[in-house]
Amino acid sequence: MSKRQRALVIGGSIGGLFAAHWLRSTGWDATVFERVGDDLASRGAGIGTHDELRAVIRRLGLTVDETIGVWVHLRQCLDLAGRVTHELATSQMQSSWARIYRLLKDTFPIADYRFGMSLERIEQDAGGVTAVFADGSRARGDLLVGADGVRSTVREIIFPGAQPRYAGYVAWRGLVDEPAFPEKHRDLFERYTMCFPEGEMMLCYPVPGRDNDTRPGRRGYNHIWYRPTDLERALPDLCTDASGRCHGQSIPPPLIRPEIAARIKADARRLLAPQIADVVAQTELLFFQAVFDLESPAMAADRVALVGDAAFVARPHVGAGVTKAAMDAEALAAAIRGADGNLDSGLARYDSERRPFGSRVVARARGLGAYIEAQLKPLAQRTEREKQPSPEYLMREIGTINLDLKALSA
Ligand SMILES: Cc1cc2nc3c(=O)[nH]c(=O)nc-3n(C[C@H](O)[C@H](O)[C@H](O)COP(=O)(O)OP(=O)(O)OC[C@H]3O[C@@H](n4cnc5c(N)ncnc54)[C@H](O)[C@@H]3O)c2cc1C
Repeated sequence: MSKRQRALVIGGSIGGLFAAHWLRSTGWDATVFERVGDDLASRGAGIGTHDELRAVIRRLGLTVDETIGVWVHLRQCLDLAGRVTHELATSQMQSSWARIYRLLKDTFPIADYRFGMSLERIEQDAGGVTAVFADGSRARGDLLVGADGVRSTVREIIFPGAQPRYAGYVAWRGLVDEPAFPEKHRDLFERYTMCFPEGEMMLCYPVPGRDNDTRPGRRGYNHIWYRPTDLERALPDLCTDASGRCHGQSIPPPLIRPEIAARIKADARRLLAPQIADVVAQTELLFFQAVFDLESPAMAADRVALVGDAAFVARPHVGAGVTKAAMDAEALAAAIRGADGNLDSGLARYDSERRPFGSRVVARARGLGAYIEAQLKPLAQRTEREKQPSPEYLMREIGTINLDLKALSA
């Protein structure tokens, strides 16, 4: 019997876990190497899901039931006075990064998931690929999968020119536990609510609560507010802690200066529907993530493949990050299996299937966020495409489901 092939999966978040599960299901050994020292489940926030994500999870043989997320059947748009201006009946399940992570991690063999392993270097030769880690240890395999996110070390090694590009805005985020949700706005809780102040975008929806609980009374209410933030002054200021240290283009949430969080809450009173401002005011920990676009020139090179955010990052407006990572992982395993042991042709097929998809998702999400990015330009310089779309259009297209992903896959 021939020896089982071994994949070294770098990055143990959602993309890495999907890749390792899928490769194992097609007869490979797969070991995950994660830089962080212990369980990642406390990080992350609410995510939109698509039918394709649930389908990929089912095809892996994992359980998809009502504990995966919270269904929302109505979208609505509120004006500054808090009146409903538009409604749209449409169903979408909202989940959380932690819920999907737990599902994948708890069903993966503990011995093959290694925490505290930070990839530094890759060595390749005709017989295999070696991963070299920061602690000096090495692992040898037949394939290395870079699932190490937007700041991927793997991508930096194989495609150093492919860098994330800041979109010109940040997403302010927060979660309110259902018991703390303002009682007088109870009717809001089950809805996907949007506000569109000039050049900005606020989205709010229910998600699994802490402990990933989806039962009424234990859920959470997630909000995400996209706001133009210039790269030269405003972003470094947001990323500077109370001691005056700038942490780069992100900052650990507890280090965000209290006066900045207070300013966001005050801006919410000025710019958003009063109900939504109340929800923001009720949020204990406000944090932000800068929004980036990233496109890689290819999904694979030699014995290395990229999946998920390491390869392509679309702005969150299509809500496709987790779904795309799941689809990449399944396609990678299928392409390799279909190539009957010829890794080169398997990886070539993977690239030809998934690269166009990645590029189209990035372009589509960029289009949806173009009006926010354009706020940093003088009005006269903005193109037609950079004008703020109607609330009806945004309400229909944001985080849209099924059809988009299928059309994009074509
Ligand atoms: C504001 C915002 C909103 C979002 N909303 C949604 C949404 O609604 N729906 C959705 O599907 N997605 C959403 N996403 C995207 C989603 O979070 C990611 O796409 C998803 O987590 C898949 O990412 P990944 O596994 O490829 O990478 P990541 O989740 O970034 O994981 C990469 C992993 O690699 C590890 N790592 C990094 N470097 C190394 C190294 N050198 N060695 C070893 N390990 C390493 C990291 O520690 C990390 O665990 C959103 C993202 C943002 C920023």
